[in-house]
Amino acid sequence: MKIGILSRNSKLYSTSRLLEAIKSRGHEAHVIDVTRCYMNITSHNPGIYFKGKKLEDFEAVIPRIGASITFYGASVVRQFEMMGVYSVNESVAISRSRDKLRSLQLLARKGVGLPVTGFARSPDDVKGLIEMVGGAPLVIKLLEGTQGIGVVLAETEQAAESVIEAFLGLKANILVQEFIKEAGGADIRCFVIGEKVVAAMKRQGAEGEFRSNLHRGGSATLIKLTPEERSTAVRAARIMGLNIAGVDILRSNHGPVVMEVNSSPGLRGIEEATGKDVAGMIVGFIEKNAKPFNTKTRGEG
Ligand code: ADP
Repeated sequence: MKIGILSRNSKLYSTSRLLEAIKSRGHEAHVIDVTRCYMNITSHNPGIYFKGKKLEDFEAVIPRIGASITFYGASVVRQFEMMGVYSVNESVAISRSRDKLRSLQLLARKGVGLPVTGFARSPDDVKGLIEMVGGAPLVIKLLEGTQGIGVVLAETEQAAESVIEAFLGLKANILVQEFIKEAGGADIRCFVIGEKVVAAMKRQGAEGEFRSNLHRGGSATLIKLTPEERSTAVRAARIMGLNIAGVDILRSNHGPVVMEVNSSPGLRGIEEATGKDVAGMIVGFIEKNAKPFNTKTRGEG
C-alpha cells in the first residue's frame, strides 16, 4: 500500500515510528506537510498538490494534525476523502474533537461520565456558574489551551471569581469544572484503535502539581484498566467518530470521567510506558480497513 502520514516533521517521534511501522510491514510511506499542500476543488477531478507535484495513488492517510493547523489540516484530509483515499481518522471527526465544548456536549448527550462542567459568557454570571459546579475548589480551563497551559485550580471561591472574571474580561472562552481531587494529580490515557483500548498508561503530575501532563513534568507508568474504564474510552472514541484516539480519563468518586478525546495522540509516552508497538497496530488497522471511498461519516453530530 502507499500510505501518507500527514505531519509537518518526519523527525517527530510519532511520525518516525509510523514511518518505520509502515515500511517494516512492506508498504510505501510518505510524510506530507499539510501546510505545503494546495488543492483543486472541482467536482470531476479533485486533486492535491504537494510542493508542486500532484499526489497520486495513495490508498490511505494517517492525519497527525497539530492543534494550531486544525482548520487547514482538516480541509486537506477532506480533500483526500473526496479523492477516495481512506483516512484513518476522518476530517469531520478531527474537527469535532478539537472543539472541547462541542465534544463534552456530545459525550454528555450519550451519557458518558464527565466532571460537572459549566460555561458562560458574561462576567455577570460568574457566581451562578461557580455554584453550578459545586463551588470551590474548581478548575478553570481556557478552551484554546493544550498541554496543561491555561488550566487553573482555584482553591477558594474568591480566587475562582477573580480568575473567571479576568478571563471573561479578556473575552477568552473558558469552561469551569468540578475539581476531581480524588484523582490525586493523575489521569489515565487510553489509546483506542477501532473498538479496542490497545494500551493504557497512568500519568502522574510532579510533586505538588494537579496537572498530570508529561509536558509539565509528569511521569507515566503502565496501568490495568477496569472494564468500565475500557468501555468508557471506547464509547468516547466512537461518539467522536475517531478510529484512533487518546481518551483521557480521571478516576473520580462517581466512576471514570472523560476529560478529553484527542485525535492525534502521541506515541512516545504510551509506547515507552507499555512497551507496545502501537504504531504497528495503527498500520495493522489500516491494512484491515482501508478501501477506496470507505470513509463514511461516523460520529454523532
Ligand atoms: P490539556 O488539554 O491542556 O492537557 P486538560 O483538560 O487535559 O488540559 O488538563 C490538564 C491536566 O489537569 C489533566 O491531565 C489532569 O491531570 C488535570 N485536570 C484537568 N481537569 C481536572 C479536573 N476537573 N479535576 C482534576 N484534575 C484535572
